[in-house]
Amino acid sequence: MKVAIVGAGIAGLSCAYELEKYGIRPDIFEVQDTFGGRGFNHTAGWMNIMYRPVKDAVEYLKKDFGIVIKPMERVTQVDFYSKNETVTITGPKLGYILLVGPAPGSINHQLAAHIRTPVQFGQIVNVRDLARQYDYVVVATGTPEIPMVLGNWRTDIAGYVYGANVAGEFSPQTIKIWFNTQWCQRGYAYFVPWNDRKGSLVINVQEIGSHGAQKCWQKFLADIKWDIDILEVFETPHNIGHVYQRRYKNILFAGLAGGFVDPLFAFGQIAAVDSGASAAKAIAEGADYDQLVTNWLRRNNDLRIVRRYVDKFSDDDFDLALRVIRAPFFRTVVTRSNVNLIRILSFVAKAMVSHKIEPMVT
Ligand SMILES: Cc1cc2nc3c(=O)[nH]c(=O)nc-3n(C[C@H](O)[C@H](O)[C@H](O)COP(=O)(O)OP(=O)(O)OC[C@H]3O[C@@H](n4cnc5c(N)ncnc54)[C@H](O)[C@@H]3O)c2cc1C
Repeated sequence: MKVAIVGAGIAGLSCAYELEKYGIRPDIFEVQDTFGGRGFNHTAGWMNIMYRPVKDAVEYLKKDFGIVIKPMERVTQVDFYSKNETVTITGPKLGYILLVGPAPGSINHQLAAHIRTPVQFGQIVNVRDLARQYDYVVVATGTPEIPMVLGNWRTDIAGYVYGANVAGEFSPQTIKIWFNTQWCQRGYAYFVPWNDRKGSLVINVQEIGSHGAQKCWQKFLADIKWDIDILEVFETPHNIGHVYQRRYKNILFAGLAGGFVDPLFAFGQIAAVDSGASAAKAIAEGADYDQLVTNWLRRNNDLRIVRRYVDKFSDDDFDLALRVIRAPFFRTVVTRSNVNLIRILSFVAKAMVSHKIEPMVT
């Protein structure tokens, strides 16, 4: 069977690894000259609460896919900030910190070490041509262009990421998250450490592009007044959406290009692995791709509802949300229990949506 994979990122490499288990050696086409997704290095958080019913992302990848990933650190503390409130949540198993990008040790290189098939770097390919030449094509480009061109994409969030790797003094297991409409409008900001001396400080904003994001970034830095040195700045569009069909004829869409990024915080790495591996299973076994990824589709639908509600939040609403997070029952949900918080939030949001949200333009 001839299979082409477009994109050697998280979804593409996971797809290749799974195909190899069935004895299929795909052709992997990567536009860049090396592994590393968007080409810059940054830290990422795998927050367990975002992946329910998965309890522990690292164990899940090992048990279900045979993918062994060594995180840089565990997350044992998350600090939330709104305009007038600060809340800290602690726990031994909140999540993990990973490095993403071209640097050695990144998730990209760790995944690449699993596969035997050589990647063809620096390749510019046309998906429609590939679809004629191969039995199957997996689109795993980490961007929406190809599903867009095929008329298979709808954008939920026109996101833009602006950030920097910074030097300072940090707690290596603490992630920080800010909500403040003054400088982030409908987005949020976060800090994920590399170690006690370095970390990635990032804002994730919507519908304002590069110049708007830079303005937000300056206001954000002025507001938090951190004693840091900026080492390198990075920026990229981060459009989140969904595809109408995850499988169109012999083309399957995985990772971000398949709509597998959450529409609340724009987390997508575990779903990228899962969708890449599931696309491989669907090809090799003739299984129903949608069925294999049904948990992620449901999660994203739930989060899309929550997002539409949160998009209307004022700073007072964020203050209130943080006071709820401070409540003991909420801490129990986050740190210890198996409760699917996303499901609960979506039910609450649905109940509130009718009076708080105008219908989406279709
Ligand atoms: C700054 C930032 C921070 C993030 N933080 C988190 C986080 O903390 N937690 C989390 O879960 N998620 C996070 N995400 C989201 C997550 O990184 C993505 O959801 C995930 O990488 C998607 O995987 P993918 O395989 O679809 O794309 P990628 O991993 O980006 O891989 C796509 C690959 O395809 C290649 N490519 C692109 N176009 C072509 C083409 N035409 N032909 C051939 N190759 C092509 C690219 O070069 C790249 O190598 C973050 C994203 C960004 C931008």
